[in-house]
Amino acid sequence: MKTIQSIDVLIPVFNEEECLSLFISRLSTVLDNMDLSYNVIFVDDGSTDNSLSMIKYACENKPQLGYISLSRNFGKEAAMSAGIDTSRAEALVIIDADLQDPPELIPDLLNVLEQKDADVVFARRKKRHGESFIKKAFARIFYRIFNKLSRFDFPEDTGDFRILKRRVVRALQQIEENNRFMKGLFAWVGFQQIEFLYDRDSRFSGKSKFNFIKLLSFALDGITAFTTIPLKLASYVGSSFALLAILFGIYFLLKSSILGDPVPGFPTLIVALSFFSGVQLMFLGVLGEYLARTNIEAKKRPLYIVRESRLSSEDSGKHTENQHQPE
Ligand code: UDP
Ligand code: MG
Repeated sequence: MKTIQSIDVLIPVFNEEECLSLFISRLSTVLDNMDLSYNVIFVDDGSTDNSLSMIKYACENKPQLGYISLSRNFGKEAAMSAGIDTSRAEALVIIDADLQDPPELIPDLLNVLEQKDADVVFARRKKRHGESFIKKAFARIFYRIFNKLSRFDFPEDTGDFRILKRRVVRALQQIEENNRFMKGLFAWVGFQQIEFLYDRDSRFSGKSKFNFIKLLSFALDGITAFTTIPLKLASYVGSSFALLAILFGIYFLLKSSILGDPVPGFPTLIVALSFFSGVQLMFLGVLGEYLARTNIEAKKRPLYIVRESRLSSEDSGKHTENQHQPE
């Protein structure tokens, strides 16, 4: 049953000059062959290479293509949010520019969405080509921990490649928090979500923008945004150790009063001191992580700033009024 007549396609782009021309041609072929109207939204996330001029050039030649260019690199999560905020079509596809997510799968995603009457169809990778063992292992551990800690599950081996119905996009547009962990938010909004298995290709060219440190901070963002269990853990572990320390104290008091204390308890002192200060510092850190994020949210800065934009054809009037566009 064909129900969806129009789609938006959102592509976050950060320094992808090597992939872009092939990506654009593959994407256009796919979209032109689909029997519906479409708008493409490239979000240039402050690229420093030729990506933006390549995007502009492509947009000039094809009215369905449009772009938003951010004032600097805000990160993929913010770039996606910028695109989501402007989407008006009946469904929105999110896809990477590096050809790891094959554009040829878009019709399949749409098909499943329509056939199963789902709200979201997310692509789940069967295999990850060209990703290091360590990255895969870390991803696995992260998903395990996250799903254990948070109150809802979010699927493993899933990127941002997905199609969302308008009502889901609207739900995402309402979320104002600054610490955007999109994978978590996609799951948090609920709705009927269905997976679609695919083989994830290697990057067509260039390197992943996410190094180990970035991924670690990304994981931390995810955990602190969606669960407060580390805070609870801090109070549990902290109070257990405090109790233990009191028992220790009583034990030493009794021991020295009965047996006397021939050697002043230097080792015990040092061990206890360093151990407890370690535990305290660790949990101060946990508190700090949450506090820092609350602080960021309290500032209510916009998630991204648009430098310039030219969104495709009919909707362009509507789009401009909704943007955080500086004068
Ligand atoms: N990207 C972005 N802003 C960033 C980093 C990445 O818009 O700060 C885009 C990038 O151009 C690509 C997508 O997000 O289209 C996925 O990035 P990448 O391939 O580096 O991530 P990975 O596939 O390794 O998760
Ligand atoms: Mg990639």
